[in-house]
Amino acid sequence: MLIVCAFVFGALIGSFLNVVIYRLPLMMERAWQAEIEANAHADNPEWEPPQRDAFNLLTPRSRCSQCGHTITALENIPLVSWVVLRGRCSACKTKISARYPIVELITGVGFALCAWKFGASYQALAAMALIAALVALTGIDLDTQLLPDQITLPLMWLGLLINVGGLFVSLQDAVIGAAAGYLILWSVYWLFKLLTGREGMGYGDFKLLAALGAWFGWQSLPMLLLISSVAGAMIGIALIAFQGKDRRTAIAFGPYLAIAGIAMLFIGHLLRL
Ligand SMILES: [Zn+2]
Repeated sequence: MLIVCAFVFGALIGSFLNVVIYRLPLMMERAWQAEIEANAHADNPEWEPPQRDAFNLLTPRSRCSQCGHTITALENIPLVSWVVLRGRCSACKTKISARYPIVELITGVGFALCAWKFGASYQALAAMALIAALVALTGIDLDTQLLPDQITLPLMWLGLLINVGGLFVSLQDAVIGAAAGYLILWSVYWLFKLLTGREGMGYGDFKLLAALGAWFGWQSLPMLLLISSVAGAMIGIALIAFQGKDRRTAIAFGPYLAIAGIAMLFIGHLLRL
């Protein structure tokens, strides 16, 4: 019963994560543009920023990107609506990306696994929050190659906070894990840049590993790096081989860190030093 409830709850959260994945990068872009405009008018005290329609995670309501049809509550039931509508807009029959139900399904399964592994506990709740954050980060990184501070930094603070009482690891291990996680990838970044003159990853990756270090302690860092590198190499080689992607194409590292973080959550006792 608990596991079924967790699955339904996860699918609902997944539906919200779809909005986050789609809108958060657009919100960041709008904020940047507003800042650039304001800077351009910095020496004109008369200037006032133009009025814009509200655009955030709650407004406006979701619409079909093709015909503008507002998605009704009935059409917004996680997983079910997409299947009933056969993946098409009810008004104009344009295809709706399979990514929406996939995100809902993954989040639902993730939450169900949390309930199964941790039972009705604070650990389960914390684990669900971690999964939600990692799903959102993965989607945004795949789309835009960004890992927004608005998610990575709160995730790190949450990891430190839950471990004040030692929910997953001791606070000492968590603090050292966060600092060391950041420092390791920061060092790799600069070493790579000095050797090749190119940027191999972004600052978001350092922050995400710092967050995972805060959740699982410094003892988890070697395995987190090993799993994400192996997963990244395998999928990267597959993409080059089957899709003919140039090996110079920047590949988002965030999703592999997320995979490693999920592995650490469920089988961490096998993976930590
Ligand atoms: Zn439509």
